[in-house]
Amino acid sequence: MDLKQLRDNLLGVQDRIAAAARKAARKKDEVTLIGVSKTQPAEAIRTAYEAGLRHFGENRVQEWEGKRAALGDLQATWHLVGHLQSNKAARAAGLFHSVDSLDDLVLAQRLSRARDGQNGERKLRVLLEVRVEEEESKSGVKPEAAAGLVEKVSALSHLELAGLMCIPPFLKDAEQVRPYFRRLRDLRDALSRTLGRDFTVLSMGMSHDFEVAIEEGATEVRVGTAIFGSRTAK
Ligand SMILES: *Cc1c(COP(=O)(O)O)cnc(C)c1O
Repeated sequence: MDLKQLRDNLLGVQDRIAAAARKAARKKDEVTLIGVSKTQPAEAIRTAYEAGLRHFGENRVQEWEGKRAALGDLQATWHLVGHLQSNKAARAAGLFHSVDSLDDLVLAQRLSRARDGQNGERKLRVLLEVRVEEEESKSGVKPEAAAGLVEKVSALSHLELAGLMCIPPFLKDAEQVRPYFRRLRDLRDALSRTLGRDFTVLSMGMSHDFEVAIEEGATEVRVGTAIFGSRTAK
């Protein structure tokens, strides 16, 4: 994709974010755009960076290891948004600024231990991925188990738990996804109340439903195809 096309896409997404924020009486700066660049080549990431994008999400440790060498000069924030196996935790802790898909205590412990002494002692930001639908096979912690995990993760000295993330079911009509977004926000509010601390981040909303997510309080949206175009099957 050429620079012009990508810039147009990015401007279009930024306009949609601003419009959704306005509709919800929120400020557009309350919403951080994360460009999900999985399957896209390093050049596409550089092009998006040149067009102004500063947050990127990748879903696989190995894929990002292959691309990052070509992008080391970019002052961007790199998020891992995909499921992380605990045997890759140490690598991920050194490669990303944020792991947005934490859903397991052993994984959290490994990330914290690996971060010890790395990256100038800066804590690794993490988000707890919550399973907002019933289906057992999906990743994410169950809502009823979230409070327990939040307390345990908060006790780990090299992680900074900033909030919650969810991947709701893909439903064509974005309006149908709204209850899932609302569930995540309600859970975040309940956790903040019962644990007496502010969890500010709500990472929710993708290309086809991020406007609804913003109306429901998203502070970060993860947008892939609407910026980079369709992903070619691997
Ligand atoms: C791929 C992906 C996205 C982006 O999806 P699009 O529909 O292309 O916007 C967002 N979040 C996660 C976790 C993803 O894996």
